Amino acid sequence: MTLKRRAFLGTGAAAMGTLAAPAVFAAGHGKPQVVVVGGGAGGATAARYIAKDSKGEVGVTLIEPTRQYYTCFFSNLYIGGFKEMGQLGHSYGGLAASGVNVVHDWATGVDRDSKTVALAGGGSVPYDKLILSPGIDFVEGAVEGWDLSAQNAMPHAYKGGSQTELLKAQLMAMPQGCTYAMVAPPNPYRCPPGPYERVSMVAHYLKANNPTAKIIIADPKAKFSKQALFEEGWADHYAGMIDWVGDDFGGGNVAVDADAMTLSIDGEVTNVDVCNVIPAMKAGHIATLAGVTDGNWAPVNAHDMSSKADADIYVLGDAAQQGDMPKSGYSANSQAKVCANAVRGALTGSKVFPAKFSNTCWSLIDTNNGVKVGATYEATEEKIAKVDGFISATGETAELRKTTYEESEGWYTGITADMFGA
Ligand SMILES: Cc1cc2nc3c(=O)[nH]c(=O)nc-3n(C[C@H](O)[C@H](O)[C@H](O)COP(=O)(O)OP(=O)(O)OC[C@H]3O[C@@H](n4cnc5c(N)ncnc54)[C@H](O)[C@@H]3O)c2cc1C
Repeated sequence: MTLKRRAFLGTGAAAMGTLAAPAVFAAGHGKPQVVVVGGGAGGATAARYIAKDSKGEVGVTLIEPTRQYYTCFFSNLYIGGFKEMGQLGHSYGGLAASGVNVVHDWATGVDRDSKTVALAGGGSVPYDKLILSPGIDFVEGAVEGWDLSAQNAMPHAYKGGSQTELLKAQLMAMPQGCTYAMVAPPNPYRCPPGPYERVSMVAHYLKANNPTAKIIIADPKAKFSKQALFEEGWADHYAGMIDWVGDDFGGGNVAVDADAMTLSIDGEVTNVDVCNVIPAMKAGHIATLAGVTDGNWAPVNAHDMSSKADADIYVLGDAAQQGDMPKSGYSANSQAKVCANAVRGALTGSKVFPAKFSNTCWSLIDTNNGVKVGATYEATEEKIAKVDGFISATGETAELRKTTYEESEGWYTGITADMFGA
């Protein structure tokens, strides 16, 4: 009896020893496998860092339907005529060359019991750790009269690529003196200054090509990111052109009619020529299918971006409900590096560093007139918490604004190399 008990205790002690040691494991298929769903700012970065840093010890599969990723960041500059579409497109060849198994397909489901991801093209991919970075989808019924069937008549242009090109084509086809309308989204949403940078770029284009045209923004919010900076810039460069209708003035009570091309704000109907509807957002649908969302977003632990619903699933970028960071490409890239370090540590026993995050959001208001807002963050038990921040000031010199714009150019080159490899 005593011997048996000792043997049992011995086994237990050995097991505890194993638990205390780095958790190196693979679910019965050779080396540990990481599957990443979504090859954007979060997913491409995480896949590249795990493959690069694990030096072949971890298998990495990236599931991404598109062969060319068009960044949303700088897509407003394409609308304003500062960038070509080709400059925003990036292929996955560099990731494949650095050892990531790139599968061009949609992930259609996650079986958390068998730890597999189902593919639209058939079959499934097994994982030990799954990273979801699917970006955003739109909340159905968020804007009365609009759904995905209306997106060609009234584009959102809030996912990169064809929607951005469509919006620009519509802008260029606007008759002289007509109206461009934007329906802005409620918080929280992808890229807080994005709608207002876009309005600046639309105004820049119209000022040169269609100077009597007007812009209306219907906004469900009472205030918006970098508001003082944008309002100063609009007054200086686009006086009389932009009419922002915030929630106090009915900007949240909006309906659209894509057949009639009308926008109704608080019951007042206006004919519009372009209607850029950016609806309320939620985590990309695969996060819901995986069962890791609570409401519209996927709650995560701040120290490693693991899901609060499943310790073997991690959620990055826009889809994650993480705390204080804005939903930006910079944030997604920063979160991906923390996650990659933690996942590699969990799978191979490599050193895991304390989580630190940072973000900067640049916006272009007019030629060489760049502004920025940013912060650093740390992980707490509760959330990713802001440590300190900075923001451009109103009334800055033209020289400083030019430097800020040049900084953003450098950032774009840097982040895309960080995501896809040089
Ligand atoms: C107009 C605009 C301007 C912006 N400007 C800036 C900026 O200046 N700076 C900045 O930092 N951020 C900016 N952003 C925000 C930035 O684009 C996003 O925050 C960032 O892309 C989020 O990264 P992500 O990895 O969460 O999602 P994404 O980069 O969108 O990547 C998601 C990927 O997942 C894929 N995917 C989705 N579902 C599935 C599935 N089921 N199976 C497989 N793949 C799937 C998609 O195809 C996509 O490639 C801007 C956004 C917009 C719209």
